Amino acid sequence: MQAIFISGTDTNIGKTITSAWLALHWQADYWKPVQSGLDGESDSETVARLAGCKTHAEAYRLQSPLSPHQSAAIDGVQIELDNFMLPAAPRLIVEGAGGLMVPLAEKVLITDLITHLHLPVILVARSTLGTINHTVLSAKALKANSTPCLGVIVVGPSNPENVKSIERYAGVPILAELPLLEEVTTESLKAIPLPMKLAHVLKRAAAFEPPALPAPDPAMRLVERDRAHCWHPFTQAQTAAAPLPIVRAEGPYLFDVHGKRYLDAVSSWWVNLHGHSNPVIAQAISWQAHHLEQVMFAGITHPPAIELAEKLAQHAPGGLQHVFFSDNGSTAIEVALKMACQYWVNMEGPGKRTRFLAMRGGYHGDTFGAMATGRSSNFYEPFENWLFKTDFLPTPLYWKSRDEAELLADEKQSLHCLKQYLAKHARDLAAFIIEPLIQGAAGMHMMRAGYVAQVVSELKQHGIPVIFDEVMTGFGRTGKWFAAHHLTATNATRSATQTPHQSMSGNSSLGHSSLVNFTPDILCVSKGLTGGFMPMGATLAAPHIYNAFLSDDVGKALLHGHSYTANPLGCAAALANIRLLEREHVWNEIRAQQTTHSMELEKLSEHPAVKRVRQCGTVAAFDIEVPGLEGGYGSKLSQRLRETLLDRGLLMRPLGNTLYFIAPYCTPAHDLIDAYETVGRVLDELMSGVTGKNSSTDETQMF
Ligand SMILES: *Cc1c(COP(=O)(O)O)cnc(C)c1O
Repeated sequence: MQAIFISGTDTNIGKTITSAWLALHWQADYWKPVQSGLDGESDSETVARLAGCKTHAEAYRLQSPLSPHQSAAIDGVQIELDNFMLPAAPRLIVEGAGGLMVPLAEKVLITDLITHLHLPVILVARSTLGTINHTVLSAKALKANSTPCLGVIVVGPSNPENVKSIERYAGVPILAELPLLEEVTTESLKAIPLPMKLAHVLKRAAAFEPPALPAPDPAMRLVERDRAHCWHPFTQAQTAAAPLPIVRAEGPYLFDVHGKRYLDAVSSWWVNLHGHSNPVIAQAISWQAHHLEQVMFAGITHPPAIELAEKLAQHAPGGLQHVFFSDNGSTAIEVALKMACQYWVNMEGPGKRTRFLAMRGGYHGDTFGAMATGRSSNFYEPFENWLFKTDFLPTPLYWKSRDEAELLADEKQSLHCLKQYLAKHARDLAAFIIEPLIQGAAGMHMMRAGYVAQVVSELKQHGIPVIFDEVMTGFGRTGKWFAAHHLTATNATRSATQTPHQSMSGNSSLGHSSLVNFTPDILCVSKGLTGGFMPMGATLAAPHIYNAFLSDDVGKALLHGHSYTANPLGCAAALANIRLLEREHVWNEIRAQQTTHSMELEKLSEHPAVKRVRQCGTVAAFDIEVPGLEGGYGSKLSQRLRETLLDRGLLMRPLGNTLYFIAPYCTPAHDLIDAYETVGRVLDELMSGVTGKNSSTDETQMF
């Protein structure tokens, strides 16, 4: 069925005549949902007489020729949206009453009726003075309501200047100009043909099938429906506990279908930075959605992408000037790996570089290249045979109470391995990839900045491209814009101001030269890039990488792309996120959260079940060892912890026996302190065997 709602920019401007004209030429039925004023000919009668079309009975017939809400009040009638049901007809013209903001009842306007009926709108405007203001207002009101406005029909003496202005300022096309007729008859209406533009719009004016209104849905019903069709990530559906139905989120809190509140202590898989439903980011996306929602990025550019690329280049560590956009963390990694491969093919010819080097335990995503370079994280057994060759460097792990000499020995050992490896394979190696400072999915394993700097400089001396996977560590998580900034800081200001986690960035004993440049050649971001609102990834490259793709030969270009490359909504969200991060108060929040973690970790580290306490910026983690409870990935311990904490309003997701916090920056200190106390109590109970919500499940929970 095709249907159109005819509304006016004002009352008494020729809506009914226009409707008759449309019904006549388009061979449509006519429906007037609300008729006010029953003396004399009704609008339905007028249209039936002029167009000879079928008309459908009004939902409300009101006696007085007033605004519907007043007329209804006089008649003692209450107009209700639920009483408006679109009559069935192959084609239908629906005529409103007056303009868009005409009230039908308390808090119900004509726009609400349009939304209720899910119809696109054609506005009828007059051609004379005042029309620009009225028409622009009406078009904007429709836009704000997300109602499609197909265009405007102007009634009255021709006024080309006004027509031009309406198109320009209202942003909608003029579909027809109807002259004032001396005599309105079927013949005179027939004599005015539909302009091509209007006929074309009518042809495409498919009525939206009104979506079924979701019935108020009890929690159980949601879970049942989920089970029927949703396939969840990292989940064994047969044994997993019922998913938690979340219906709303604000700041650091999530609310379930019963209204119960949870602290999102893991920022919804590490993506959220400024709290859920942050109004600044929400507004930026909304504005963008109404102006340019998507356009292909090959051969085309747009301001949000340009501005975002500029901002990323500005805030990234020095020299990363070129930005390739993609859709998520894994694709940002794929792009980086492909850049590295083709960099060498372009430089040396094909077939020479066959290896990648990565850190043991590193995780880089779930697409094939990301899986290959993250293979040692042991998430990918079924795919082993399909993964390309990657070698792994031992990862020297830092935690607060770790013996300094022991850690240093590990670091030296790892660097020794690297040197030996490079002596053998520097000519076959395409690139090195690392999650700098923190291996997230591995269990929030941390490395010292001094060690990472040394690894980077070693590789750079051999001309091997270094890829930083900052998908998790970017945008303030580590206390600086990027983890990479800790390396340059180590170098430049080692003896000057010490950061709160100085023991992580210290380590001068590895003795690197201050002339070495520690910035990566390629840097991947995603997760926090959009503040946790939109899926988006970006891969930043240094000029020497970018330049290796410049040639007269198309084959030397990076022939890679995604349908939604540089999606304007994602760019708008990312820009809003970056503007928030450019405000000092966010960094005050970050510093305050760092301090809270330090203090609370200090207290919790005295708990007998808590081991290997570690922190980097706003990321805090520790391992749990409870005698008699296994702590591996498939373990009851992690499952039980998660369920018990959830019960107490705390969303955490243990990685094996590692418990960690990555909270939104805006999380109030007292909420974090409460969370630590809750964790402490739950650990007490676990140790004394009280918490026995006998978890029948044996879910393999990864992260
Ligand atoms: C999450 C993550 C990825 C993968 O990102 P997705 O958006 O989940 O594909 C890659 N690298 C790191 C370090 C991550 O934490």
